Amino acid sequence: MIRAMYPGSFDPITNGHIYIAERAAAIFDDLTVGVLNNSQKKYTFSKEERETMTREALSHLPNVRVKHFEGLLVDFMRAEKCRVIIRGLRALSDFEYEFQLALMNRQLAPEIETFFIVTEARYSYLSSRAVKEVFHFGGAIHDMVPPGVFRRLRERFPPLPGLRQA
Ligand code: ADP
Repeated sequence: MIRAMYPGSFDPITNGHIYIAERAAAIFDDLTVGVLNNSQKKYTFSKEERETMTREALSHLPNVRVKHFEGLLVDFMRAEKCRVIIRGLRALSDFEYEFQLALMNRQLAPEIETFFIVTEARYSYLSSRAVKEVFHFGGAIHDMVPPGVFRRLRERFPPLPGLRQA
């Protein structure tokens, strides 16, 4: 039984994240989606909101669990008995950062392997930050995020005066 971990901020989860989680869940027996809460970082959504939205969005995958965590990923992975880190790659620009992260994690925990899953072209421009920016200025994002995220974004950021929110 191979347990994998898909860690990230998920602030909020997008259809690009869902795609990666679906592909990882089809390969590994068990997938934990780890919602990172870094106390040094400012998030749009609280760790509880990010965890709830992520859990809702992945509820169709029976072998996926969602948990938030703080501190070092490798410590959380050892506690959860996960051997594989899943990360998504959108473009070459992701590669350098992800490569560095993977080497750092190997240094910290040599028994853990990082697997990269390449995104699909239609998600290659999607990031949590881009979704929030587009939404903020009234752009249509309903085919970029799951319905629960769309609803919470609308609650959190009511339309600016003069802007018609799609
Ligand atoms: P982090 O803050 O750890 O980068 P993110 O939530 O932004 O967390 O991303 C988590 C993982 O999901 C990263 O490996 C990132 O490259 C990947 N990812 C994010 N958006 C997409 C997407 N549209 N397609 C594929 N992978 C993605």
